[in-house]
Amino acid sequence: MARRLQSHAETDGSLLEGPVRTCIGCRQRASRRELLRVTAGSDHDGHPIVRPDPDGSAPGRGAHLHPTTECYDLAVRRRAFARALRFTQDGAGLSSVPLADYLTRIRADPTDRDWSSSS
Ligand SMILES: [Zn+2]
Repeated sequence: MARRLQSHAETDGSLLEGPVRTCIGCRQRASRRELLRVTAGSDHDGHPIVRPDPDGSAPGRGAHLHPTTECYDLAVRRRAFARALRFTQDGAGLSSVPLADYLTRIRADPTDRDWSSSS
């Protein structure tokens, strides 16, 4: 039975300390690390979409939610994306399908989070 020495590397586990955001789906507060940032963007046809921003590096206004289809559904039902992203037009025309696709993908393969590496 090996006794572990306290490691300085373990001070990183800040959990709910540090930046906290509110999930726009379930409205619960969580550490920013647990939440997926989304921003308003546009697809290749110029249509407005909700875009996942796993790096948190995209410019502009962002919203946060748990990367689960449950919270996604709640956010869609509440039209929370349009409100949180300050999208005018009451959410009409703002497609959240790319985000749904993304959530399905990371659920199927949690190791593949490289959505934005191609840009
Ligand atoms: Zn949530």
